Amino acid sequence: MQASTHSLAPQWSLGGDAGRVEPAAFKVYTQRDLDRIEALARLSEAQRFEMKVVSAVLPFRVNQYVIDELIDWRRVPDDPIFQLTFPQRGMLAPAHYERVAALLRAGADKDELARVVDAVRHELNPHPADQMEMNMPRDEEGHRLDGIQHKYRETVLFFPSQGQTCHSYCTFCFRWAQFVGDKALRIASSEAAVLHNYLRTHREVTDVLFTGGDPMVMKTAHLKNYLEPLLAPEFDHIRTIRIGSKALSFWPQRFVSAEDADELIHLFERVVESGKQLAVMAHYNHWKELDTEVAQAAIRRVRGTGAVIRAQGPLIAHINDDPAVWARMWQKQVELGIVPYYMFVERDTGARNYFEVPLVRAWEIYREAMQRVSGLARTARGPSMSASPGKVEIQGVTEVAGEKVIALRFIQGRNPDWVQRPFFARYDEEATWLNHLQPAFGERKWFWEDEYAAIRDAKLAAAD
Ligand SMILES: *Cc1c(COP(=O)(O)O)cnc(C)c1O
Ligand code: SF4
Repeated sequence: MQASTHSLAPQWSLGGDAGRVEPAAFKVYTQRDLDRIEALARLSEAQRFEMKVVSAVLPFRVNQYVIDELIDWRRVPDDPIFQLTFPQRGMLAPAHYERVAALLRAGADKDELARVVDAVRHELNPHPADQMEMNMPRDEEGHRLDGIQHKYRETVLFFPSQGQTCHSYCTFCFRWAQFVGDKALRIASSEAAVLHNYLRTHREVTDVLFTGGDPMVMKTAHLKNYLEPLLAPEFDHIRTIRIGSKALSFWPQRFVSAEDADELIHLFERVVESGKQLAVMAHYNHWKELDTEVAQAAIRRVRGTGAVIRAQGPLIAHINDDPAVWARMWQKQVELGIVPYYMFVERDTGARNYFEVPLVRAWEIYREAMQRVSGLARTARGPSMSASPGKVEIQGVTEVAGEKVIALRFIQGRNPDWVQRPFFARYDEEATWLNHLQPAFGERKWFWEDEYAAIRDAKLAAAD
């Protein structure tokens, strides 16, 4: 089978001589192409079989640039970008792994395999934080507005349907469920009008965030349909357009040498000229992603439009659970003109058992990394859990009235009134998510718990 040169716009890369353009097709591999990835020949047969088992359940997609330029194959399997993009046996619980492996070994038929794979997927909490039920707004008649999420007052998320894949997939992605073809789990809209109508009537919204997947897999022409109408005076309340993307890392050619890269850059310039802030919310996990020439050329080009690049990414075991990695990444980002913005906690879904880092350890890594960098690189908030009530930041471990506690605060909340109020959890070295924590000082409830329950009941009632 041919490695699919996929259906996105053809991509081109600059040759060695200035200005000379050589064709370099965007070459991408998925599960069925595993045997065609030459670099994997150096692994054992057993390792390649493990990858097949895991990628039968969880999404896998990697492109030639990541394979050739970002992974150091001498360090495989420990190499962080290999861990970021290639399936690892530990990503499945032993019982799940064995069930799928046994079927593959026995050459089970497609239907039987699909049934088991589906069952395993549903045991992996495919929709964390009640996203389907609680964040999707409804119109006056109560119909769900697909492709829109509105959780925090100021910011609306939009999932354009042409932007629901990525140039490669991250092994830990919390949106993994939508990449494995389960339509019911997918959040997307192809209707620019749905977004524009919604924003027209919601004057409290100042920010719109295009997200996915990765909106930068879209052709510029599509992106233009979504963005350009927002520059009209009726959308003056929208002050910031954000684009969440990992293309600066996984396929920087998108901004430099793709067929429609120049058109994209002009579009960015027009947004900035209109007086709105354009923020590229760039997903980074490791300083290696910032090191290649083409990655730096793409960053310069995007910044040249007047757009601001803000960096965010989760703290992940096997990839970046090391203060030295974060310190070097933040420092490098600042050198390149990128603003460090968020350090996230790995979410409670998919292969979380393999990737999660205890909250207390996450805070220690954050703190040690902060201590190593200059003030300009200390702008990242975190470690932050995107939980159903809101974004909860671990502020630190301390002692209050003789009790060892974890100090927390909301940096975003379903109720804006919760934001920035400190609250305390009993010290717990093993907790990896908000629902593992207990209120400190013998209290029975969090200060926000009753209000949250009321909001939740109201939303779920509306969803019936
Ligand atoms: C993080 C997030 C936002 C944006 O929050 P900021 O703190 O403004 O960056 C908006 N909506 C959702 C659902 C989010 O998770
Ligand atoms: S780039 Fe983002 S959406 Fe795409 S796989 Fe990675 S984390 Fe998920």
